[in-house]
Amino acid sequence: MEKQSNNMTVYPRDKKFRFSCHHGLDCFNNCCRDINIYLTPYDVLRMKNKLGIKSGDFLENYTTQQDNGGFPAVLIKMNEDDNLKCPFLTPGGCQVYDVRSWACRIAPVDVIERGYGFIFDSTFCHGLNEDKEWTVEEWMQNQGLEIYEQKEKSFNRIPLHFHFTGMKNLDKHIKDVVFMACYDLDKFKKFIFDTGFLSYFWVNPEQLDKIREDDEALLQFSFHWLLNDFEEDLTMEIMDEMK
Ligand code: SF4
Ligand code: SF4
Repeated sequence: MEKQSNNMTVYPRDKKFRFSCHHGLDCFNNCCRDINIYLTPYDVLRMKNKLGIKSGDFLENYTTQQDNGGFPAVLIKMNEDDNLKCPFLTPGGCQVYDVRSWACRIAPVDVIERGYGFIFDSTFCHGLNEDKEWTVEEWMQNQGLEIYEQKEKSFNRIPLHFHFTGMKNLDKHIKDVVFMACYDLDKFKKFIFDTGFLSYFWVNPEQLDKIREDDEALLQFSFHWLLNDFEEDLTMEIMDEMK
């Protein structure tokens, strides 16, 4: 039996649907504007590397933050001067297609409470009238979503790990650190190597070599550090060195 969640019908992973998205459709690229595209840490890492820029520049130029009092969320900043288009949309399609975000990959499906829903209907998304048939499971595999489960296994635990106190200064400090470690990896790397971080937190030398060279290893380290070794007072002291 179908259920509802936030006005969306909830389907299981073996739900079948018809869908194909391609240049010939008259809706092509219509969904790349005026839409909330949330970015995960792995999205930010891949997109900033694809563009060849630092994470801080990526976050400043292409994203906006949503803060509902808890864990900070990062979204693509739609271009207000150009019909709220995604900044990565070009006449030929998505400029960052091979590293497009988790949210862009899974569309028109979305993960909702206890299952899956469809964010578009076939009057808006004409791809849903095409002949090619998928199950949700097949679609997710086809879109390369499994790697997120591997790369962000610990990330989902982080929001649960941090309890905000209601003390604005403290909460802001915690959020700044969590934000840096999850999304602003180039800054986090400087925090590790250019401050007293390593005299306070022990890191295995082999792991240290890896995180110096490899952003993905750095991301895994950041999740581990936030979940296991983050210490508020110490971290605040080290953060002061960066000012
Ligand atoms: S990142 Fe690419 S696929 Fe996603 S909304 Fe922007 S242009 Fe569209
Ligand atoms: S609206 Fe649907 S079919 Fe059209 S471009 Fe977007 S995802 Fe593809």
